[in-house]
Amino acid sequence: MAKLIDGKAIAAEIRREIAADTEKFKKENGYAPGLAVVIVGEDPASQVYVRNKHRACEEVGFYSRGYELPADTDEKTLLALIDELNGDDSIHGILVQLPLPRHLDEEKILLAIDPKKDVDAFHPYNVGRIMIGNYDFLPCTPAGVMALLERSGVTIEGKECVVVGRSNIVGKPQALLLLEKNGTVTVCHSRTKNLREVCRRADILVAAIGKPEFFDSSYIKEGAVVIDVGMNRRPADGKLCGDVDFASVEPIASAITPVPGGVGPMTITMLMKNTFTAAKKQGAKV
Ligand code: NDP
Repeated sequence: MAKLIDGKAIAAEIRREIAADTEKFKKENGYAPGLAVVIVGEDPASQVYVRNKHRACEEVGFYSRGYELPADTDEKTLLALIDELNGDDSIHGILVQLPLPRHLDEEKILLAIDPKKDVDAFHPYNVGRIMIGNYDFLPCTPAGVMALLERSGVTIEGKECVVVGRSNIVGKPQALLLLEKNGTVTVCHSRTKNLREVCRRADILVAAIGKPEFFDSSYIKEGAVVIDVGMNRRPADGKLCGDVDFASVEPIASAITPVPGGVGPMTITMLMKNTFTAAKKQGAKV
C-alpha cells in the first residue's frame, strides 16, 4: 500500500509558514505583499481559480486586488491596465488568468508584465532564468510538485524520473526542476513510442497529460513514487479525477498523490510563495 502524499496538509503547512513570515514582513515594512489578479471574460473555471487566489491571499495576510474585465476587452485596454499595475508600488505580483479570450494575444500580454512582478513565472525572461538555474520564481504547479516530493522525504538525486506531458506550464519546467535536483529525466509526450515501457522505468513518475485515469498499474514500476498533476472530469460520473487510475496504481506504488487533495492545493500555495518573494525583491525589509 502506498503512502498518501497529502497535498492539502502540506499546502496548509506552507501557508502557515508564509502567514508567519508575512506578519513579520508587515511589522518591518508597514505594508503587506500585494497581488493583482486580472481576469478577462466569464469562464466559470477561471472564476473559481481567481476566487481561490483571493481567498489564499486573505489566509496568508496579503493584500489582493481583483480586476474583472468584460470578454470583449481590447488589447490596448488590457495593456494599459498591466502598465498601470507595473508601476503600482502596492502591487508586487501580477497575475493574468489564462486562458484569455481568443482575440487577445496571450504572448503579447504576458510579455507586458514586469518580470519582477511575474509571479506565474510565464514571462520568457523568467523562463530563461529557470533554464540556467538562476531564478527568483518558479511556475506554480511544478514548484508545488517539488515541494511535495521534498516534504515527503523523496530523494530525487540519481532517480529515474519520467515526466509525461511537455507543456510550457507543467511538463517542461517540471523536467528542468527534477534535472536540477540531479534526477535522470525522461520527458514523454503524445508521440512517444512505448510509453508504457518508459513509464515502467520510473522511480518517480509525474503524470501531466490531461487524460482521465489514463495511467493504470501496467505503467508503474513496483515501489515508484507517482505524482498526479491531472485535473479532469471523469466521463462516467463527472467527478474530479487525475491522470492516474488511483485504485489500480495505489497498491503497487510506494507513494502517490490523490486527486483532489494532491498537487492542486500546492499550486496556489506556490503563487503565494512567489508573491512573497516578489515583495521581498522589490525592496522590502524582511
Ligand atoms: P496540455 O494540454 O498543455 O499538455 C498536455 C501534454 O500531455 C502535452 O505535452 C501532450 O503531448 C501530452 N499528452 C497528451 N496525451 C498524451 C498521451 N496519450 N500520451 C502521452 N502524452 C500525452 O496540458 P497541461 O500541461 O496544461 O495540463 C496537464 C494536466 O494537468 C491537465 O489535466 C490539467 O488540468 C492539469 N493541471 C493541473 C494543475 C494543478 O494545479 N493541479 C495546474 C495545471 C494543469 P503533445 O505535446 O505531444 O501534444
